[in-house]
Amino acid sequence: MLPGRTPGSWSFALSMKRTIMNDHRRLGRELGIFDTDPLIGSGLPYYLPAGAALRKAIEDYVHELERRNGYQHVNSPVLGKRELYERSGHWAHYAEDMFPPMNVGGEEFVLRPSLCPHHALIYRSRRRSHRELPLRLAELGGQYRSELSGVLGGLTRVRAIQLNDGHVFCAPEQAAAEVAAALDLVEAAHAQLGIRAARYRLSLRGDGGKFVDDPGLWARSEAILRDVLKERGRDFDEERGEGAFYGPKIDIQIVDPAGRESSLSTVQVDFFQPERFDLGYVGGERPVMVHRSVVGSIERLLAHLIEVHGGAFPAWMAPVQAVVLPLSDAELPAAASLLRRCLTAGLRAELAPADRGSLGARIRAHRLVPYQLVVGPREAASGGASVRLRDGSQAGDVPVERLAEKSRPSFQNPESKG
Ligand SMILES: [Zn+2]
Repeated sequence: MLPGRTPGSWSFALSMKRTIMNDHRRLGRELGIFDTDPLIGSGLPYYLPAGAALRKAIEDYVHELERRNGYQHVNSPVLGKRELYERSGHWAHYAEDMFPPMNVGGEEFVLRPSLCPHHALIYRSRRRSHRELPLRLAELGGQYRSELSGVLGGLTRVRAIQLNDGHVFCAPEQAAAEVAAALDLVEAAHAQLGIRAARYRLSLRGDGGKFVDDPGLWARSEAILRDVLKERGRDFDEERGEGAFYGPKIDIQIVDPAGRESSLSTVQVDFFQPERFDLGYVGGERPVMVHRSVVGSIERLLAHLIEVHGGAFPAWMAPVQAVVLPLSDAELPAAASLLRRCLTAGLRAELAPADRGSLGARIRAHRLVPYQLVVGPREAASGGASVRLRDGSQAGDVPVERLAEKSRPSFQNPESKG
C-alpha cells in the first residue's frame, strides 16, 4: 500500500473528500448542468441551461478544430433499417447492445448503435475519385445502447449517446498518415480542454464470435496502429479482447478522481466495413475507413470535465463567462448596459443586482464565473467595470471586448504542424 493512502490517514480522507466533492452527478445537479427524471427513464439525462451552454461551447470548438483540419460535416438520421446493420456486421456481432427493432408497416427499424454505416452510405452515394481521398466526414450524432438500468448513473453510462464521430475514407497507403493526423487532433483537443490522458491502449481482437474472423485484415490494421504509436514515441499497452468487432483501436484512456478508468478518444483502422458496403473509387480499389473520435461522447466528456475542473471551467467553455455586479441599485442602469455590451461582444453573461444580497454574498454565489465585473459609482460614470478574477485577484478595468477575445479557444497546436 502506498504511503498516505492508508484509510484513516489525513491525506486519504482528503482524497476521498475530493472524490466525493467532484462527483459529476452531484456537481452536475448543483451547477444546473444536467438532471434525470424517472418518467423519461434512467440513462437518459437532459441538459439544463448551464449544461446546454457548456455543450455548445465544446461542440463549437470541436467542430471548428475539425473544419480547420480538412473535415466536412454531415448529418444523418438516428435510425436505420435492420438490413443496414445486417450489412455492416452489427447485427451479427453487436446485437445484444442494440435496442430491439421497431416494426413500422412491415419494415423493421432500429435505433442506430453507431454512425459508421450511415457514413459508409454517404461515401457510396457519389462516384469517388482517388483525387478526393482522403475524404474526411464528421458528425456529432446520436447513437443508442440498450444498457440495463442497473449499470446506469449520471453521464458515464447512458442509453442515448451524442458521439463526436468521424470517418476518414482513404487509400490504404494513406491510412498511417491519417491515423497520425487524428492523434494530433486528439492531443490538441485534450490540451485545450484540460484533459490528461492516463495511458494509450492498443485494443486488439479477442477470441469468440464478437470479432470478425479474418486474421489477415486484423494483422494489417494492427500493424498500422502499432507503427504510428511507436513512431510518435507513445508508450502503450496492448490488450486483447478490447477491439471493435471490425478492427483494432487506439484508445486514449482517462481516469476519474475515484481512480476508475474509461476510454475517451479513439482511432481505428477498418478494412472490413468498406468491403461489406462494397466501397470503391476511380483510380484505385478499396478505400480504408479510419474511424476516429477526438473527444468521445459528449456525455462521458462532460462527466470528466466536470470532475477535472470541479465546476471551475476554463473561460472559453464556462457556462457563464462574466457576471455583472452593480455595487448598489444606483449602478443598475450602468450595469444593465454593460451586460448588453458583454452579450454583444459574444460573452455568456448575466446580471446579479444588489437585491440579491451584499457584494460579498453575490461574489461567493458566482465564485465559479471567470470574470466578475464590479460596477461602482466610478465605473458607472466611465461605462467600464472593475474586473475581479475567480482566484480573487483584480485585473483592473479591462474592456469587455478584450475579455471576449480572451474567452475563445485556441487552435494553435494543430495549425502549427501544417
Ligand atoms: Zn465508426
